[in-house]
Order: sequence, then C-alpha cells, then structure tokens
Amino acid sequence: MMKKLVSLLLTLSVMFILFPGTGQASTVPKILLDGKELASDVEPTIVNNNTLVPISIIAGGLNYQAVWNKDSRTVGIHNNDTQIVLAINDSKALVNGQEVEMGEPARIISGRTMVPLRFVGEQLGLEVSWDNAKKEASLFSKQDGNPLPVTPPNPGDGTETQPSGALNYIALHELDPNTIVIRYSGDIVPNQAFSLTDTDRIVLDLPNTAFADDIYPSFPLNDSKQGSLDIESHEFLQKVRFAPLQGKESTARVVLDLYKPVGYTVTNNPGEITIQLGTELPKPPEEVKEEPVPDKGNNGNNGGKVFKVVIDAGHGDHDSGAVGVNKTKEKDFNLAIALRVKKLLDQEPNIEAYMTRSDDSYLTLDNRAKYANDLKADVFMSIHANSFTKPSANGTETYYSRSDSKALAEVVHKHLIKATGLADRKVKQAGYVVIKKTTMPAILVESGFLSNAGDESVLNQEAVRDRIAAALVAGIKEFLKLS
Ligand SMILES: [Zn+2]
Repeated sequence: MMKKLVSLLLTLSVMFILFPGTGQASTVPKILLDGKELASDVEPTIVNNNTLVPISIIAGGLNYQAVWNKDSRTVGIHNNDTQIVLAINDSKALVNGQEVEMGEPARIISGRTMVPLRFVGEQLGLEVSWDNAKKEASLFSKQDGNPLPVTPPNPGDGTETQPSGALNYIALHELDPNTIVIRYSGDIVPNQAFSLTDTDRIVLDLPNTAFADDIYPSFPLNDSKQGSLDIESHEFLQKVRFAPLQGKESTARVVLDLYKPVGYTVTNNPGEITIQLGTELPKPPEEVKEEPVPDKGNNGNNGGKVFKVVIDAGHGDHDSGAVGVNKTKEKDFNLAIALRVKKLLDQEPNIEAYMTRSDDSYLTLDNRAKYANDLKADVFMSIHANSFTKPSANGTETYYSRSDSKALAEVVHKHLIKATGLADRKVKQAGYVVIKKTTMPAILVESGFLSNAGDESVLNQEAVRDRIAAALVAGIKEFLKLS
C-alpha cells in the first residue's frame, strides 16, 4: 500500500514538473497593494460571500506592526495612530479600543489570521476591490497617504452627536505621582486603553466627550487644539497630552508619553477615571506566525474538583488598620472574621481554605498576593473594615480590580449586605494591590465603617460577625457553583 502511494506521488510530481501550467496556477488568488503583488503564504479565500484576506501581511505591506499574542489568541496591528486587536473566532474587532463589527469572525487559515477584505479597507484606509474572475484582491492607499479616521461602528445619519460628558480635570494624583486622575461631569464610557510599545505611549480614547470650558489645567484652544500637563522628573512619564481626536472631534483622546514601557490599569468610577502606571507589564507578545491552538475542552462542570480559597485578614501586628470610634482595631476585626470563614470553609468537601495570616502577624501586600498566586488559588478574599475622616460615612462595600473578579464581588456582596444590615455602598472597582496583583478572581470586602459609631457597634456583635462569615462563605460557594 505504502509503495503504491509513493509511486503515485512520484507520478504526480513528475506531471507537475512536465506541465507546470496545469492545475489552478492561472486562477490562484492574488493580493495587490498599489498594483504590486504582496508576497503571501496564504491566498484570499471566500467564506459566506466574504473575501477573507491575511491581515498581518497586508498590514506589513503598509508598515504597520503586527503582533501575535499566543496567550490571549489575539492579533494586534498598529502604527502611530491606530491599533487594531482581533481575537480569533470573534467577529468584533477592537479599533483604538472601540468595538467594530467585521461581519465575519477572524479565523486562522493555514496559520494566518484572516479577516474580511471590507474591514481591512475601512480600518487601514484603503480602497479595496475584489475581481472574482481573476481572483484578485486589489488594495490602494488613499491619495494623501494618511489612514482614514476610525469608522464608528454605527455610522450616524450625519447629525452631530451631543457629548454625553465633559472633562473638567486632568492632573497627577496629589499623593501618588504614578496615577493620572481624569474627572468629568455627565456620562463617559472610555474605550479600552491601548499602548504603542514601539513609541512607548498609552492612548485612552473617550467617545462622546467634550472638554469643559473650565477644565483644569486650562485647555488652550490654540491652533493645535492640544492641552498638556507639565511633568517634572518622573520615573516613567514624559508628558500627558489631551485633545479632540483628529478626524473624530467628538472623541477626546488622552495620550501619555513615556520614557519606557510600563504596565498600567485604567479604572472608571462615576465622575472619575484613573490611570495607574507602573503596574506589572503584560507578558510580551511573541512576534511569531499565528498558530492555531485547539480549544481546551472545558464543559463548565465542576465535577469533584477541589477549589483553593485564600482568606486574607487585612493588616496585622504593628499595622492596626483603622481604629474605631470606640477603639476597635481593624486588624482584630479582620482576623476574627477570617478565622470564622476558615472554620466554615474547612467543612466544605470541595474547598481547601488557606489564610495569609492566622494570628496577629503582618505580611506585606505583595506577599499576600504572592501567597495566593504561588498556591494557584481559585479565589482570593481580603477582609477589611472601613474608615473615613467624616464620621457620618457608613455602610458595606465590596471591591474588585480586574473584570474577571466582578462576578465574585457581586455574588459575595449580595450575601454580605444582608448579613450586616448596613447601608449598601455597592460593588466598586479599585486597584488595591492585593486584588490587583493576584491572578485569580479576587475581592476585598469592607463590612462597615469603624469610624462610624453605629457601624462599629454592629460589627462588634458576635452574632453579626457569625452572619458576616456565613455570608462570605455562601458567596464563595455560589460563585464556585457549590451551592
Ligand atoms: Zn483595611
């Protein structure tokens, strides 16, 4: 059998040598950029009447950088103005942080990421045509050579959209020079920030955003229509610039010019966006040919899995945390709750519970996160009580940092407010170290305010402490689908 196959292959290859014109040679699809054929190892292909083309090869022909990130299975394409992120099997692309529907999911064919030709034309500023008879995709750069402004996902009917919010403050945080604070009135939903590693810049676009007349620092409406912050001797930051996005004035763009690439997190709370610099850099993507990886078979069924849960009692030893009106030390409250939670979790057959501290000892914030990361924990919960200069502040709140932790925060908070019976200050997002540097779903709970006499007396009741611990466990179990 083997011998037969080999001789058949030999015959075929001899035929090709003798008759190179046979087969599909005359109709092999081609990609032309400004009349020149692009060398591509993958030909355009037609799926559901859409012509798909290898985007990284076209982008390369236009001097964009294309980067494949194996971990997130995304392809990033960027030049100085535009960044496009494509996720495999997803028909939505992120163009400068804004979702754009492509009509057909990006897919890997013969190791290349293929996207619809029309999308390439719209987003890379090309005129495109497809000659079906010749199987030729022709791409032409626009005359002025500049890429077009980003096409909005829902092209309007020409009427101007009213800004939904206005920026009135852009400055470095008074206490933390690594945090940029942007305050606004109205509603603003920032696009996902993106960084341009070759130029060490971070770009944040804010759609439907105006600049308030009384913006701080004042925003000079000169010819360049640019405002900027003076930065003095900063470890990472050279300059912060802000201006309406050229070609799309309804979007405000904030650009951080850096001395070197740094990690960052963007947090949006009502009225205030913060950009924190100096967080850990994401793993550098590899400049390799895209390679398909088979999806891991995850059927979402927990089966008999045992989950590792890390309970972190905040503060400890010399660090008492908040001190109550009636002298309750936060570190003691936190430990009392954490020990109760541990005891309850130890009764769960599908949970292994761990504590960062089980006595009045102290760990740094980094070591608390590292402890959970080294354990490869499934859930991290940091237990705290609140304090504020105004004694009237009161209530229960739950924090998460990364979006992968939001569901955990919500389900735990739901149980926690019932247990404390205090005012509901809701689930909030903040970049606290222990919930930011941990790599699993991680939350920080603030059961109440020790600086409020009412909250403090509630939190000191043994029955309430029992209820809080039971609520935290109920939340964890619901999140892990163990209840
Ligand atoms: Zn605390």
